[in-house]
Amino acid sequence: MGILLTVKKAFYALVANGLRAAPLWDSKLQRFVGMLTITDFINILHCYYKSPMVQMYELESHKIETWRDVYLQYSNNFLISISPEASLFEAIYSLLRYKIHRLPVIDPESGNVLHILTHKRILKFLHIFGKKPPKPAFTKRPIQELGIGTFRNIATVQQTASLYDALSIFVERRVSALPVVDEQGKVVALYSRFDVINLAAQKTYNNLDMTMQEAVEKRICCVEGVIKCYPYETLETIIDRIVKAEVHRLVLVDRADVVKGIISLSDLLQAMVLTPAGIDALLS
Ligand code: ADP
Ligand code: ADP
Ligand code: AMP
Repeated sequence: MGILLTVKKAFYALVANGLRAAPLWDSKLQRFVGMLTITDFINILHCYYKSPMVQMYELESHKIETWRDVYLQYSNNFLISISPEASLFEAIYSLLRYKIHRLPVIDPESGNVLHILTHKRILKFLHIFGKKPPKPAFTKRPIQELGIGTFRNIATVQQTASLYDALSIFVERRVSALPVVDEQGKVVALYSRFDVINLAAQKTYNNLDMTMQEAVEKRICCVEGVIKCYPYETLETIIDRIVKAEVHRLVLVDRADVVKGIISLSDLLQAMVLTPAGIDALLS
C-alpha cells in the first residue's frame, strides 16, 4: 500500500480486500517503510474525532504520509521484517520483542513480501506439529499455578461506556482487546482491536458516542459469546481451546464470571518458547 493514499482510502482498501494489515510502500525511497494496521486506524480515529455532528476532514484529506509525520515520533519508523531463511524462534522473538502482531516475511533478493506471520499462525503450526513429541510436564499444571498470563490491572470497559472511551483505553493501555463488563465486573462480551475495523466496513466511524453495548451488537463477528477459562484449568486445556477457537486471547474468570485475567497468545509463546530458551519477560 502506498503512503500517498489518503487515510480513508487506505482503510477502505484493507476492508475491501479482507485484510487486517498491509506493508507501507514509499515510492520515493523505493522501499517498505512500515505497516498499516488496525491499531493505526484506532489512533487516527481517536486523534481526530470530535462529535457525531463534526465531520473528520483529516480522514478524507490526510495522506498516510502526513499521519506518519505526526505519529511516528512515538512509534517505529522502519519496517520490522524477517527473511524466509530465519527460524520460527526468531519470528516469535521479533513479535514479542517489538510488541507487534504482524511480521512480514520478505524475500531479500526481490524485496517482495511473501507472507505476514502472526501469533495465531505460529501457535497453530506448533500445535499441529507438537502432537508427536511428548509435551512438557508443565502443560498438565493449572494455569494459576504456572502464572502464565496477566492477572493484575486488567484493562476492561463498562458496557455503558462509549465506543470513544474504549478507543481511549486502546490508545493509552496499548492492549489488543477489552473484556466488556457489567457493573459487577462480570464479562458480557469481548471487544478486540479487530472489531474496530467494522467501523470502516460499515462507514459508522462518525458515531463513536454509541455505547459499548450497541457497538458489540452492531459488529459483524464470527465468534459466539466470550471464550473464557478458569484458574484451575490446565495449560494443555487452555492451548487446545485457544487454538480451536482461533482467537488471540482467553478471558480468565472466576465462578461468578468476574474478570480475573487475560491469557494471550503472546503469553503462551513467551512461556512455551522464549522462557525455556532463557529469554525472560519480553512482555513486561
Ligand atoms: P494490530 O494488533 O492492530 O494488528 P500491531 O500491534 O501489529 O497492530 O501494531 C502496533 C503498531 O506497530 C502499529 O502502529 C503498527 O503500524 C506498527 N507495526 C506493526 N507491525 C509492524 C512491523 N512489522 N514493522 C513496523 N511497524 C509495525
Ligand atoms: P486477530 O486475528 O486480529 O488477532 P482477534 O483474535 O483479536 O483477531 O479477534 C478476532 C475476532 O474474534 C473478533 O471479532 C473478536 O471480538 C473475537 N474474539 C477474540 N477473542 C475472543 C474471546 N476470547 N472471546 C470471544 N470473542 C473473541
Ligand atoms: P497481546 O497484545 O494480546 O498480544 O498481549 C500482550 C500482553 O498484554 C500479554 O501479556 C497480555 O496478557 C496482556 N494483555 C492483553 N490484553 C490485556 C488487557 N485487556 N488488560 C491487561 N493486559 C492485557
